Amino acid sequence: MKTWYVEDAGGGCQAFGEVVVLVCEETGEVYSARVPVTWTNKLGWEELVCHLMTDLMDKAKVSRDDQFFVCSGNIFHTYHKWLSDQGYNWQTHKMDGLAHDAAENEFHRMVVEAGFPANIKLADRDYRSFYTEIEKWVSCNPGRKQKYWKDREVRKKPAQPRYVLKSTMGRVRNCHQCNQKIPPFSPAVELKYRKDGRKLRYFFHPECCPVKPLKSQLDQLEVAWKGGKLTGILVPCQEQVHCTVCGRPVEPGEKTFYAYEEDHLVCGHPSCFAKTRSGSGIC
Ligand SMILES: [Zn+2]
Ligand SMILES: [Zn+2]
Repeated sequence: MKTWYVEDAGGGCQAFGEVVVLVCEETGEVYSARVPVTWTNKLGWEELVCHLMTDLMDKAKVSRDDQFFVCSGNIFHTYHKWLSDQGYNWQTHKMDGLAHDAAENEFHRMVVEAGFPANIKLADRDYRSFYTEIEKWVSCNPGRKQKYWKDREVRKKPAQPRYVLKSTMGRVRNCHQCNQKIPPFSPAVELKYRKDGRKLRYFFHPECCPVKPLKSQLDQLEVAWKGGKLTGILVPCQEQVHCTVCGRPVEPGEKTFYAYEEDHLVCGHPSCFAKTRSGSGIC
């Protein structure tokens, strides 16, 4: 079992993206990732940071038994929720020591890589002076300003996760990525956001989606079917249908199994489908 610390740096600076780190003090391991200055895939800021953190956890090969101490900042709110949802052992923590230093070092390394004078460093935790130096260095040059000035718009908090795994229900949708149809009662990722006061909504095939959704409202069921397996979704019935297995009606609102057998939609009582093991039901 390891103890990991999660910290960020650079949030208060108007130039450059933030840096996030995952640190183990016992082993001295430091994993870091950089939040871009701006991005275009419609991910919310906290959502994007959560993706970076889960990638770092994969890299660090963390274990389910490991303990996590995470900075309480807004930047990690979605990540906090994700850790709880996934059942990790974690708590917020006022960061000090290696994690704090590692985050500051990574931020410094990033600005120096961009050409900022390496001798100007954070001193006595006087962030304001340090960040002011960086902001001046960036804003005095139009090319730099365009490249490194923080995009505050994309960092505004969205009301909810923007990508959610769900189903198309009874409608055909068009995939925003490949432009092909997504049939009714199929898994799909919904992207919702506001732009200039307008609500926008798009759908993707799960495999076409540019990001892995952090939130799922998809209920799937795999059943034995004609010697093979059939995977379908469970959703409330929208209009009365007849169960493919027992022939009896399924009432609107009742939880219903929908799946495609080749191109043919089958549906009905989840319990009827769950029972179609070889030898009983339809073979
Ligand atoms: Zn697609
Ligand atoms: Zn039935």
